[in-house]
Amino acid sequence: MSSWPKPPGGARHSACHFCDTLHRFSTLEEGMAARCVRCGGLLYQNRPASLARASAFSLAALLLMVPVHAFPFLTMDAATMRRNLTLAGAATSLMEEGAPILGASIILFTIVTPLVLAGGMIYVCLPLMFGRVFPGSFTVAKWMYRSEPWNMVEVFLLGVLVSLLKLAKVADVHFGIGFWAFSGVMLCMAGAVAGIDREELWDRLEVAKP
Ligand SMILES: [Zn+2]
Repeated sequence: MSSWPKPPGGARHSACHFCDTLHRFSTLEEGMAARCVRCGGLLYQNRPASLARASAFSLAALLLMVPVHAFPFLTMDAATMRRNLTLAGAATSLMEEGAPILGASIILFTIVTPLVLAGGMIYVCLPLMFGRVFPGSFTVAKWMYRSEPWNMVEVFLLGVLVSLLKLAKVADVHFGIGFWAFSGVMLCMAGAVAGIDREELWDRLEVAKP
């Protein structure tokens, strides 16, 4: 069964991202992948239940962002002092303590970008499940994919883990609910982006456009 609708128009071609070989585009059966004849690189994939998976993972990521900001990210005990750090609190502390670019980058790349990506995915994919296209979906999809390389949730988590190795020598550090929720956001964002192929999403928008 092919879940990938074929947009109207003549023959299309798809270039390999790795070696630029041009291939004639053909619609795939669900679960199949098209690979480059020259280097074997992945061209595009018809992922099973793509719209449902992209929407569900994005919704889960958005819901998990609530505990990320509602609960402490880290708790530090040093001598008689205990400090609870939230993600936004850590970023604003950095801005106040002489590292405004670093603080603003944390807000932009770990709070704003995942919101744009997950929110955009829901705005575009959820109505498509019912054959509808919301106004401005093409623009939203374009900005969604533009923001994708700037989603640095996993880079930030890795940075936190590395810096904890140093902090653990001077303070007792505990992960809070916010940290585990943020790890969940990272996994859900990866699932949402991998849920639907870019080519498929544009084809679906093209077919369903009002
Ligand atoms: Zn290739």
